[in-house]
Amino acid sequence: MEAPTAVPAPHAPIRPARRDVTTLPKAHLHLHFTGSMRHSTLVELAKERGVHLPDALVEDWPPKLRATDERGWFRFQRLYDIARSVLQTPEDMRRLLRETAEDEASEGSGWLEIQVDPSGYASRFGGLTPTVELVLDAARDAEAATGVGIGVVIAANRTRHPLDAKTLARLAVRYLDQGVVGFGLSNDERRGRAYDFEGAFRIAKQGGLLSAPHGGELLGPASVRECLDTLEADRIGHGVRAIEDRRLLERIVERGVTLEVCPASNVGLGVASTAADVPVRALYEAGASLALGADDPLLFGSRLARQYELVRTEHGFTDQELADLAKQSINGSAAPEDVRTRLLAKVDDWLA
Ligand SMILES: [Zn+2]
Repeated sequence: MEAPTAVPAPHAPIRPARRDVTTLPKAHLHLHFTGSMRHSTLVELAKERGVHLPDALVEDWPPKLRATDERGWFRFQRLYDIARSVLQTPEDMRRLLRETAEDEASEGSGWLEIQVDPSGYASRFGGLTPTVELVLDAARDAEAATGVGIGVVIAANRTRHPLDAKTLARLAVRYLDQGVVGFGLSNDERRGRAYDFEGAFRIAKQGGLLSAPHGGELLGPASVRECLDTLEADRIGHGVRAIEDRRLLERIVERGVTLEVCPASNVGLGVASTAADVPVRALYEAGASLALGADDPLLFGSRLARQYELVRTEHGFTDQELADLAKQSINGSAAPEDVRTRLLAKVDDWLA
């Protein structure tokens, strides 16, 4: 007699396996420095430093924001600036990066690219160069403590003069071999065209850095097109509104540009009404490479793993597709080859 083979009971529901997204190995490519702070750390440091926090950052946290109009963006920016003001000593900066790396590790992230505009901290830490050196040193310590590889993206502020951006690009290139991996452009898209920052990005690209500007978040396809054509973007921060222009999206796919899609952020800032309205499925089906990111967990209330959860629950991504997204994040990163190979193999283990 043949051994009976295991067959499901006649009426047992066949449910696809749902693996734990916090153990899915991935890379985190869209996270801002102050915005990555733990909420508990913000509250603690504010108390120690005598910084008054508005209700939106204490009892009403996370704040309800709507940045699709300029007033809303101003409010977001103001909260961000208040949060940044609690970071007053080098130890605060080190603590932030160490805790962020711990949180990354606990959510399966094996490689983090953290974005920082050193101009926002320079007056406290002795200028732009010492600030960059402090961040890089803190990143090395956090890396050693947690095993999460960390690259730094130096970001220029698009509401400031393009010459400031050139200064930052030159500085970023000087630290290429010491942990700086990319050059970004952040802040309100409506107040600074990508077009005006061509010179800074040329310096960064020629110096060997990835081009990773924000675009297609608050403005439509034209903003993404400028990132692509003028700034020769390798990655685009958000870029979700590329979905509005088929031809543009095809070019993104052809060029292998990775879109750093941040679902909770899009909802938090009113770019999308709900997570289901963020066009993750449509971008994915069109063949675009995506790297899910948390943007500013401190202001939007969720970290990296939650973005994968949202894509599963709101867009029906299967475990196979989530693994594919994780691979896209790793492939879109500036992680060294050995880190990349190790993480990609671990994604397969997660699925196996
Ligand atoms: Zn961002």
